[in-house]
Amino acid sequence: MNTPVTIIGAGLGGLTLARVLHVHGIPSEVFEAEASPASRLQGGMLDIHDYNGQLALEAAGLMDEFRGIVLEGRQALRVLESDGTVLFERGDDGTGGRPEAQRGDLRRMLLDSLPAGTVRWGRKAVGARTLGDGRHEVTFDDGTTVVTDLLVGADGAWSRIRPLLTGAVPEYAGKSYVETYLYEADTRHVAVAKTVGGGSMVGTGATEGMSVNAHRERGDTLHAYVELSKPLEWFDAIDFTDAEAAKARIAAEFDGWSPELTALITESDVAPIHRPAFALPSGLRWERVPGVTLLGDAAHLALANGEGANLAMLDGAELAKVLAARPDDVETAIAEYEQAMFVRCETPMEEDFLLESIFGDDIPERLLNLFGIEERKA
Ligand SMILES: Cc1cc2nc3c(=O)[nH]c(=O)nc-3n(C[C@H](O)[C@H](O)[C@H](O)COP(=O)(O)OP(=O)(O)OC[C@H]3O[C@@H](n4cnc5c(N)ncnc54)[C@H](O)[C@@H]3O)c2cc1C
Repeated sequence: MNTPVTIIGAGLGGLTLARVLHVHGIPSEVFEAEASPASRLQGGMLDIHDYNGQLALEAAGLMDEFRGIVLEGRQALRVLESDGTVLFERGDDGTGGRPEAQRGDLRRMLLDSLPAGTVRWGRKAVGARTLGDGRHEVTFDDGTTVVTDLLVGADGAWSRIRPLLTGAVPEYAGKSYVETYLYEADTRHVAVAKTVGGGSMVGTGATEGMSVNAHRERGDTLHAYVELSKPLEWFDAIDFTDAEAAKARIAAEFDGWSPELTALITESDVAPIHRPAFALPSGLRWERVPGVTLLGDAAHLALANGEGANLAMLDGAELAKVLAARPDDVETAIAEYEQAMFVRCETPMEEDFLLESIFGDDIPERLLNLFGIEERKA
């Protein structure tokens, strides 16, 4: 294999690839659009699952470091009906398979595990072209270029590498998320802090595509994702720089919901942030193009389902492993990686497995009904 492997994007997927390659003694260079590790708030909590994200961390040799950044107690879960009725409640005894960590801590952990200088910050790819014989040239927004024998697009939803493989582009999925933050919640937002509890909370009603979800982040910050199914134009008509008006407009859609749930919108300490949901066609595949491949959101951007970061990390680890196993036959290695990734993304997760992973094996009937599940298999 001619190295270094060239990775575009220092998100969780690209960094896991770089780390697992490093574990196997294979050098890589990662080009990242952001100017520095601190240039964007890497907000949000991620639950890292024992059936995908943790497998990647094991391959990366970082499980001990990961345990050090897990936030205790955050696997607690509450599910509420829109009127505030508690349908499900579970504490965190530390034995669950979905420990939670801050995304920024995960990224920092991966960055710290790489040789100095692996990530080239402030290098935004603006285009890429095939030179033939499996070689590619990537152009950056500062006018510089890099030529590589092995190019990996790990540059997320709006990948500049994806067009080398497929013409598919993400489309608006008909719904958006609105993010809010409530700081010092145990003293300043007491009722809503109790409603969210020690970990995650899902508030859901009769209308599909409408929910109020929150996590307790580090300390007592509450971070909410409000799900609302509306066309993009509806959101475009809201001035999100006018915090109070935007909060009122979003909250009005949840008229009749419990005040402890709507308070996650109205009591936000920041202006609500609009996050439109885009997705690539499900089951997207492409023909093999020598010398280039994709991972994570660049390959299979999907509606938020709690798996995206986990899958991006698993892709990175799996790609590194096949490259390490076949250093003299990179094309066969990438073909193997892509086939496995296509199948992984196309195969719906077993409902019973997923339910048990999230809720354990004692799920109230009303909760199942709420999620549109008639009855569980014996
Ligand atoms: C609101 C929300 C909540 C989510 N919650 C969860 C969750 O709870 N659990 C979960 O598993 N997943 C979750 N996801 C999904 C998860 O965030 C993504 O699937 C995951 O981040 C994908 O990782 P990635 O490395 O493929 O891409 P990204 O994380 O998008 O990283 C791509 C990197 O490439 C860089 N980049 C982009 N363009 C260029 C360019 N042109 N040149 C150079 N660099 C570039 C970016 O700056 C970034 O650093 C959520 C997503 C959203 C939107």
